[in-house]
Amino acid sequence: MEELVKMLDENLEYKSHEIVDGCIYMKIVSARTEVKCPFCAEYSVKTHSTYERSFQDLPIQGMKVTLVLNNRKMLCRNSECEHTTFAERFDFISGKSKKTKRLEAEIVRLSLNLSSVTAAKILSQNAVSIGKSTIDLFSRRVVAYGISPKHSTYLITSTMKRALNDSGYPQQLTFHSDQGAQYTSKAFRTLLRVNNIVQSFSRSGKPHDNAVAEAFFSALKKEELYRINFKSEREFYECVDNYIMFYNTQRPHGTLAYKTPERFEELYQQKQKKAS
Ligand SMILES: [Zn+2]
Repeated sequence: MEELVKMLDENLEYKSHEIVDGCIYMKIVSARTEVKCPFCAEYSVKTHSTYERSFQDLPIQGMKVTLVLNNRKMLCRNSECEHTTFAERFDFISGKSKKTKRLEAEIVRLSLNLSSVTAAKILSQNAVSIGKSTIDLFSRRVVAYGISPKHSTYLITSTMKRALNDSGYPQQLTFHSDQGAQYTSKAFRTLLRVNNIVQSFSRSGKPHDNAVAEAFFSALKKEELYRINFKSEREFYECVDNYIMFYNTQRPHGTLAYKTPERFEELYQQKQKKAS
């Protein structure tokens, strides 16, 4: 236990643990003698008060782990500082999160690898399916999307037309999708051909050939759809709409060095300008 706690943060000490209902509750304390004020960077040794904080960590032998920390509130003695007290902070947890960063990283890793079987779940829950979004591979921006209660050729051809129109009919495109009947339909293939778009398919039963789109859907489901009980189709559409806006303009992306798709494209265009 001691080692596990030290791996989390060397400033932590293991105190004790108990197992209740198959859950491990581990008491930990800070080992720091002096704590740096995050506002003025001065060190303090004076504790103002303590409060209990608990958060989840990676499971141990299949058991849930809750860390219980006696978090200290320190007095800042710097008269120039705008704050008289401050809470001790730790690198292993961000802000007011209820989970350690290493647990969050694990959840993200798992969700990226979630099979699209979960898509079927949405279908049955909401009686609405999401048309495959067209995702810009370079910046991961969602360039167009359509939603319809059922998969249809009309849905994907109209979405594709909108994507092409909005992006000014770019050249050298590849369209990647699963092998759904609507993507192999004559109407859709013709649309791709006249626009010189190369068509590419995921192998059957291997949705992760399309990892980028799958990652998007997984984020949409985990961060939004599974949290809400939709009362109407309209509510569902609005939620997807808002999420895509958020995804493109506000949500940092690990593969884009934690920039948003929109910001990433901006920086790329600035670089191109400088180079020319
Ligand atoms: Zn201070």
